[in-house]
Amino acid sequence: MENRLADRRHRLYRLMQEQGVETAVVASVPSIYYLTGVWVEPGERVHALILRADGDPVWVAAEMFKQEIEGSGVEMHYFQDGDNPYERLAEVIGSGKNLVVDGEWPTRHLLGLASALRLERLPGNADLLLQRLRVIKDDQEIQALERASQMADAVVGKLAEQLRPGMSERAAAELLAGLWREAGALQMSFPPIIASGKQGAAPHHEPDDTPLARNSTVIVDTGGVYDHYCSDITRTFVLGRPSEEMERVYKVVWAAQQAGVQAAKPGRTLHDVDAAVREVIMEAGYGEYFTHRTGHGVGLDIHEAPYVMAGNTQVLEPGMVMSVEPGVYLPGKFGVRIEDLVVVEEGGARSLNRAAKTWESMCLDV
Ligand code: ZN
Ligand code: ZN
Repeated sequence: MENRLADRRHRLYRLMQEQGVETAVVASVPSIYYLTGVWVEPGERVHALILRADGDPVWVAAEMFKQEIEGSGVEMHYFQDGDNPYERLAEVIGSGKNLVVDGEWPTRHLLGLASALRLERLPGNADLLLQRLRVIKDDQEIQALERASQMADAVVGKLAEQLRPGMSERAAAELLAGLWREAGALQMSFPPIIASGKQGAAPHHEPDDTPLARNSTVIVDTGGVYDHYCSDITRTFVLGRPSEEMERVYKVVWAAQQAGVQAAKPGRTLHDVDAAVREVIMEAGYGEYFTHRTGHGVGLDIHEAPYVMAGNTQVLEPGMVMSVEPGVYLPGKFGVRIEDLVVVEEGGARSLNRAAKTWESMCLDV
């Protein structure tokens, strides 16, 4: 058993004891991986790691996953297709007292377990406990995130060389998928966003058959997975000659992004980082066009704690990794977003992305 994994479980037990939790049902693929080192995709089947504050974990899974799970050293309880998996879980859990359940678990499983345990009230949510652990990345995790981010830098750079007016957003998204495969990523961490011109005014636009417009912007937001850790980067290019407004907005967003990275220091709050970014955009008169939070944590999940947003009083600590991704979205015109991942260190935030983002390097001569 790797010490690192045993150590993570011990920290979880300590948190459970502190909070009077007797049993935790952990079910999300990334959280189970985090605690066991085994990545299993169970699909629709019941699959859960049961942790008790006073004992060893028990893994309840369908027999077909035996081979993957055996190497983990965790005690296993199997069921077969056709068995009632909720009864099996209930036997392992015993009493449903002081129980917390993974918030990612599908509701049908929660209902099945609640019925098997004859629960009279909802169990607590295990997410806060898991977040407390996963929000601080260790050196090995940071290395994986750094590697995934280097791949993102390279992929975005190569895409920029191939973007041409007239190419559809969908074709550009397919190019991206190919570049990620070439870079050695098992998969992309989310379906990429390619948003040309007016379409860029919708922050989560899905690539369609719209051709990339000449003398307009194109937002490219993409990420890939390295060793189960995600990357996430956004660059906004101009294909041809930009307008003055494009240049002005780009420089505002860039300054805001830098202000966010500067503000991400241990001891300050996530609210402070969001406020530092928002202030730059508001002062430039574009406040109403920055319509989303400043960023999100990234790790085994592409969106996870900590969330960089107004009202989040959580304090930054070394080892947190998050995106800083302000944007300005002008309806009917265009959008600009710039996103890098940063890791919080003792002296401040360090960017994991190095892809060019000066205004000059964004204007592609096509
Ligand atoms: Zn992104
Ligand atoms: Zn993001």
